[in-house]
Amino acid sequence: MKFETLAIHGGNLVTDSQKPVIQPITLSTTFEHQGGSMLYSRINNPNRLALENLMAKIEMGSEGAAFSSGNAAAMSVFQALPHGSHVIAPDDMYHGLRAQLEEIFEDKLEITFTDLANQENFKDNIQPNTKLLWMETPSNPLLKICPINVLTAIAKFNNIATVCDNTFATPVFQHPLKLGADMVMHSATKYLGGHSDILGGILVTKEPNELWGKIRKVQRIGGAVMAPWDCYLLTRSLKTLAYRMKGHAEHAGIIASFLDQHPKVEKVYYPGLVNHEGHTIALQQMSGFGGILSFLIKGGAKEANRVISRLKYFTNATSLGGVESLIERRAAVEGPNTPTPPNLIRVSVGLEHLEDLLEDWEQALS
Ligand SMILES: *Cc1c(COP(=O)(O)O)cnc(C)c1O
Repeated sequence: MKFETLAIHGGNLVTDSQKPVIQPITLSTTFEHQGGSMLYSRINNPNRLALENLMAKIEMGSEGAAFSSGNAAAMSVFQALPHGSHVIAPDDMYHGLRAQLEEIFEDKLEITFTDLANQENFKDNIQPNTKLLWMETPSNPLLKICPINVLTAIAKFNNIATVCDNTFATPVFQHPLKLGADMVMHSATKYLGGHSDILGGILVTKEPNELWGKIRKVQRIGGAVMAPWDCYLLTRSLKTLAYRMKGHAEHAGIIASFLDQHPKVEKVYYPGLVNHEGHTIALQQMSGFGGILSFLIKGGAKEANRVISRLKYFTNATSLGGVESLIERRAAVEGPNTPTPPNLIRVSVGLEHLEDLLEDWEQALS
């Protein structure tokens, strides 16, 4: 073999006869035609399949699909809907997905945003062409809670497919499929990844029905799939999800109570607080309240920015769900048309020591 040939063919194909304990990373984009299940990595890949199977199991569904981001996962659902479908979505929908519906699908879909905390708002907005109910609970950034079992029962009766964005709760605290939803969606970028180093999205379906078939087509032909390396990392992250979530929720609950009693704080949004509007429903459908809280600070945007800049352990950055605490004045990121109040601060409470975090809040608010 000449150098060029050797450089390509000289490496051994390692087919390990000793069974590895974890799924090895398979970066190969293509697979020799041997009648196996793998053909080409946009269609399928061992790491993606391992992750999709794992997600289906932990979300109690039948199949999973991994995408390059949470937005790509959600987009595949909207793309799979027939032209002219009516979609009902929460008024406090994650702003990137609201933008998707308003700015990308405005010609294809009819969209109604409404407060889904009240089931009557859902009922009142159902039309003959309503094909999809999108839920997000707790919601980003107002932590609104919607009753999944009630809404999915109404949807079923009206032949409307249901998806629940489970990013904030995670399958550690909430199982939307068990509560009647047809599909679960995740921004895996957040808690599932958990270390702020993976961009990804997941869908899990209860049943592989017709809509799911179309979503699979969008995934495989559209091609916004998660890369093998990210699938590997995510599979790794999921092993510690339950322990991370317990820590996040414990810390967030204590910080929420601290802020709730602080004279500089106007209002705290955290579903674990008894004074939270959705607390009763959250108690019924969640086994923990998660690691995100938002609050309104007295003194407007200026005071919000001041406090954020004084915090030592809460990095002023967007995103959430990592082991490191993050904070941001949400309206500044969502742009001029946002319904989010200018003095709303969203906090992703991390896994640093609780005493350090509490001390940080005390000094920043002083
Ligand atoms: C971040 C987020 C998304 C979007 O996910 P990306 O991975 O950023 O595309 C969707 N829903 C919620 C609730 C989110 O927080």
